[in-house]
This record gives sequence, structure tokens and C-alpha cells, in this order.
Amino acid sequence: MRQKIVAGNWKMNTTPAEGVALASELAKRAAEIPSDVKLIVAPPFTHLTSVQAAIAGTKIELSSQNCALQPKGAYTGEVSAAMVAGTGAAWVILGHSERREYFCEDNAMLLEKIHQAFACGLKVIYCMGESLEQRESGVLWDFLKSQITEVLYNLDSLKDVVVAYEPIWAIGTGKTASNEQAQEVHAFIRKTVAEKFGAEAADELTILYGGSCKPSNAKELFACPDIDGGLIGGASLKADDFLAIAKSY
Ligand code: PEP
Repeated sequence: MRQKIVAGNWKMNTTPAEGVALASELAKRAAEIPSDVKLIVAPPFTHLTSVQAAIAGTKIELSSQNCALQPKGAYTGEVSAAMVAGTGAAWVILGHSERREYFCEDNAMLLEKIHQAFACGLKVIYCMGESLEQRESGVLWDFLKSQITEVLYNLDSLKDVVVAYEPIWAIGTGKTASNEQAQEVHAFIRKTVAEKFGAEAADELTILYGGSCKPSNAKELFACPDIDGGLIGGASLKADDFLAIAKSY
């Protein structure tokens, strides 16, 4: 079912103590979250468990920012989907542009990671989006299509997938895609998904926008017909801003 979701990607920010403090403030103010909005927090692996304890009993849900490609074994430093699920997390973010760019994650790897996540009962926030160069050089639509066909088209169903469209040029830059630019891509994603999974599945797919989304621009973005919510980086580190975004529908 199409959902209103506001998810906070904390990236490599907050110590465990800072993360618990932020989660505790959100938990204390959980009554401010509109009843039809799902709020998700994605802290670093090290504090998934303690953040889960801080939000327990509220409607706030937990996500990790990544999971390993392999289920278990001799992969020093990796964290498996089963380990993530064991913390109480319900979600995993996969395909963030920072993972694609700095850690060389490609579509084939991401498909495998999604399989790992599903095998452990995790739902997936699948990120996709183009660089400025791709947007300006005429390959925008082919590139976006490849991020859909090479990954999502290989899944049996999208019922446990939320897509986040995150133009790389808008992430952490203060530069937001215009409502028209974001809506145009969201509609394209929905249409492309419909070609494989049918109109009903496409209509039910939740598609989030990410890229310098903040209290001052969330309302107009969320008012677009194909934008169902946001994946929020910087602004999710301040409870006031994150909650204000959740109230922006
Ligand atoms: C993100 O990292 O997913 C993101 C959208 O970051 P920011 O909101 O800071 O641009």
C-alpha cells in the first residue's frame, strides 16, 4: 500500500550516546507525528540496538543504512541482513548514492543485497538517482531506467520495497530538485514500474524524494501527486526539523 513515509538517514553521524539522545527526543515527541505518517530512523550499525530500545513502544521504526552482500562468514567488518534484523530493525536502506560511489556498489550487488534483506524479513528503501553530469548530458532517462530494470525488475514483487529518488546533485548540497523536476522523475519511476509489475502495483509503490529536503520545502514536494514522502539526511539530525518535515503533508 502507498504510504506516507519520512525516513531519516543519519549517515556516519552521531556517537551511540548522541544517537540515543536524538532517538529519545523523537520518542518523547512521537505524539507529534501525524497518525498516517510513518517515521523511520536509520542510525549507524553501532547504535541500532540502543536506538531501538529508545524508540520501543512508539510508532517510530528502525532501519539500517546498509547490509552485507553475503549471509554470514569470513567477511571482516561486514554486517549481515540477519544481524540487522536481529536488532529489531524492520528496514534497510540499499543503493544510496554514497554506497554506489564510494563503495563501488553496482546494480547487480544491490539486487543480491535486496535478496539478503528479504530473506531476513527486512523491507527495503531502494535509492536511485542521477549525477548532474548524467542529467545534463542527455542520458538521464536511460540511466534511471537501468537502475529500475537491472534491480527492481528482477524481483518477484515490490510489496516490501519503497523507492527513494535522490538526485546526487541535491544530496547534502542545499540544492533541492524543483517540484517539477522531482515529480517528473517520480512519475517516470511509477510508469516504468507499471510496465513490468502492472498499473496497480505501480500505483501502490511508495516513492520518496531525497536531496536537501527540509521543513521549508517539504510541503510543496509532498504535495506532488507521485511524491509520497522523503528520505532525509541532514535535517533528520535535528528533532525539530525532522518532526516538522513529518508534519508537512
Ligand atoms: C540522503 O543522504 O539520503 C539525503 C537526502 O541527504 P540530505 O537530506 O542531507 O541532502
